[in-house]
Amino acid sequence: MHTTLLYVILAIVIGEALWAFFLGELNRKSWSDKVPERLQDVYPEDKFQKQKQYRLANYRFSLISSSFSLLVIFLILWFKGFAWLNDLTGQITDHWLLHPLLFFGIIALVSMLISIPFSLYDTFVIEEKFGFNKTSPKVFITDTIKSLIIGAVIGGLILSLIIWFYNTAGQLFWLYAWIGLSFFMIFFSKFYTSLILPLFNKLKPLEDGELKVAIETMSLKSGFPLSNIFVMDGSKRSTKANAFFSGFGKNKKIVLFDTLINDLSVDEIVSVLAHEAGHFKLKHIIRGTILGVIQAGLSLFLLSWFVNHPAISHALGVIEPAFHIGLLGFGLLYSPISGVLGLGLIILSRRQEYQADSFAAKYSNASALQSALKKITSAALSNPTPHPWFVFFNYSHPPLLSRLAYLDQFN
Ligand SMILES: [Zn+2]
Repeated sequence: MHTTLLYVILAIVIGEALWAFFLGELNRKSWSDKVPERLQDVYPEDKFQKQKQYRLANYRFSLISSSFSLLVIFLILWFKGFAWLNDLTGQITDHWLLHPLLFFGIIALVSMLISIPFSLYDTFVIEEKFGFNKTSPKVFITDTIKSLIIGAVIGGLILSLIIWFYNTAGQLFWLYAWIGLSFFMIFFSKFYTSLILPLFNKLKPLEDGELKVAIETMSLKSGFPLSNIFVMDGSKRSTKANAFFSGFGKNKKIVLFDTLINDLSVDEIVSVLAHEAGHFKLKHIIRGTILGVIQAGLSLFLLSWFVNHPAISHALGVIEPAFHIGLLGFGLLYSPISGVLGLGLIILSRRQEYQADSFAAKYSNASALQSALKKITSAALSNPTPHPWFVFFNYSHPPLLSRLAYLDQFN
């Protein structure tokens, strides 16, 4: 027998998939046939056609993989697959911590196994065909294994922490879990570059020379506390280019993809970094962290209200309510709320991008940033004319043409 709440969960899962499909179709239809005038220098006609083909291939493939995941989750919910797994793992162990860990561990492992064929096709067929892929099968396999282990360690730790607080602190567990999780988030973003990144990539200090001097001059001028500049072997996996900062407080590190150094001029690289320094000086990073902490607190508070409600366990077909089943059901029900919160965050993020662009125009050079943005976007074959609705709901950065127009005022 299916409960009303199960139908609500199914409606959420299907509604979200249909909404994503609707936006995707709008976006597909908004692809222009001609190269926009401002981009004619970075998108020769043949490259533009290649870009359209690449987007189309990606879009079709994402339709197939998301339809497949929708079908899988629908069947699992309809045939009470989670209740079955709960019984099965409950027979192996009924330990308060081991049972939930085993339950979620199996779900994570199975969903990863299902995603592997899709990821293989994406990397070695689509990305390969369009000349992006530099990943060797060996790198792919070691990446997969490392991600699995890191995911198991980090996911397992967070889950254990929440369950442990639930078992020891009772109704106020969300408060303790919130404090614990916040420390974890701050620790993680502080040590990401020194702990996690080296597991996947090699980082080398940037050699002395024109580029290093130019970056240091810009940092000094804009008051950015720079301690180290690293070059990362991004070309090991992809031809796409990027750069980012990491670290809190003083001692900031810059990580440049080697692809960025190969494709961009010194002025262009400095302007990209001035944009990133802008995010730091304008306190976007610290605000982002605070918002993340507030969002986690809100989610945990709501979780503590609903997790013990028997209706959630019943909806998933489990007769005897259990914390981990409540957690899973809550996750499914919470997804529209987190979607709305996420929308607020990307609207804010797009505003901050303009602010960082204007900071970069002040401390480096607006026209260098414009040409850098054109090169990076065209190298990634990004869609130059996305649909405004698609941008509103999905883009964390304003589309290229809007940023170019915004930067015009500083020229
Ligand atoms: Zn930015």
